[in-house]
Amino acid sequence: MIINLLCAQDVLSLIQHKNNETVRLDPAGGGFSMEKTDSRYALSVWRGEFIDRATEQAYRQHEEKTTARSLITALWVWGTLVILFGVLDYIQLGATEGFYLLFALRLISTFFIAVYIFFLKSRPALATGGQATTAVEIIGFPVMFMIFFVRPEITSWNIGVISILLISLFIFVPNRATQSAIAALFGLVGTVYSIALKEPPVSVLIGLAFVLMLPSVIGYVAAVRLQRGQRRQFAMLNETVRINKSLQEEILRREELEVELKRQATTDPLTGLFNRRQYEMLFRREQERLRRYGARLSLCVLDLDHFKRINDQYGHDLGDQALKHVANLFVDTLRHSDIVGRFGGEEFILLLPDTDLDSAMQVINRLRERLQKSPLDNEGQPITLTATFAVTEVQVDDTNIEDVIRRADKGLYDGKAAGRNRVISV
Ligand code: GH3
Ligand code: MG
Ligand code: MG
Repeated sequence: MIINLLCAQDVLSLIQHKNNETVRLDPAGGGFSMEKTDSRYALSVWRGEFIDRATEQAYRQHEEKTTARSLITALWVWGTLVILFGVLDYIQLGATEGFYLLFALRLISTFFIAVYIFFLKSRPALATGGQATTAVEIIGFPVMFMIFFVRPEITSWNIGVISILLISLFIFVPNRATQSAIAALFGLVGTVYSIALKEPPVSVLIGLAFVLMLPSVIGYVAAVRLQRGQRRQFAMLNETVRINKSLQEEILRREELEVELKRQATTDPLTGLFNRRQYEMLFRREQERLRRYGARLSLCVLDLDHFKRINDQYGHDLGDQALKHVANLFVDTLRHSDIVGRFGGEEFILLLPDTDLDSAMQVINRLRERLQKSPLDNEGQPITLTATFAVTEVQVDDTNIEDVIRRADKGLYDGKAAGRNRVISV
């Protein structure tokens, strides 16, 4: 009962969590629920980014390679289009001053795009930071403004193209929504200013500003929505990884606990030898082998001689030490397949599978001699320990271990009476 109580306490202490954060099964939903709702993953409504700087930083780091890759693709497409539209300019303008001016701007723009692509390969963090992307976007706009002056006949087309460009800034070029908004604002103001230089009615300018604001606002809202979705996914991924980790730790802890419980349930706490329940179970297994395959099995019971004197003379603690000493000696001396159990007090039981009586007598005699020659060291003072052994071979018609022990016990009694420190065969 005391042992049972101790076990229960050990189990409780082993179940104690190392940290306060607990993941538990949600009885209602059948899934996992987090005990503390995490403010680290709160998202800003306007920026579409994590409010917590560290989380945002972690997100960008996690995403930088993929973002850089898709940004490089977008930049390639953009750069190619800038040059290709130059061909259209040439068809329309020929080798004129206007064409060269436009083409020079196109070259400047593509030069910056190319330089940016080059740097992005080694520094992908530029892609998620956004400022460099915004700068390249801003550098790209003057070409569009210049078209209003060099090719005034396509002003309305150009406004259409700028509208598409504004929305593309948000949707096709990977950049933070707020950063794209800065570039879009530059494009919008620049376009309205370029048109304003031609002194149209104010109402036209206001109308133009509205027309250009529409794709910008749509683009911004779409970009923020996309960013929030991506970050929510990141938060979920993070949580899944974390829960997985804590579940794995939990599994490991339970496995350790199981091993510990098994050890406690099968061994004697003082000596670490098999307890009664365990050696009885192992006996039944060996008995089954004996019945099925005719295997031999010998059993030995032993009782330490004059153990009371050891306790009386040196104290109970040393008595305990002596019991451990004897247990270790038995385990070290016998074969790995032999079963060593503590019967109770200073009495032990040994099961020797695949061993007939003659062999068992030889083995146990050697063990007796070794015990006698291996005194317990009490701070330099050797204490000789001896034991009386009784060996019997288990027969097919022995119904249970109690019968066999009873038979051996008689031998033990005789051995004690005959002067102790001997092996009796029964
Ligand atoms: P013998 O067997 O040779 O006849 O003499 P003995 O002195 O060993 O006699 P007995 O078997 O009657 O006494 C066993 C003693 O073993 C009694 C008890 O104090 C001691 N003992 C039993 N269990 C433990 C234990 O767990 N620790 C210690 N220190 N002593 C124990
Ligand atoms: Mg005894
Ligand atoms: Mg004894």
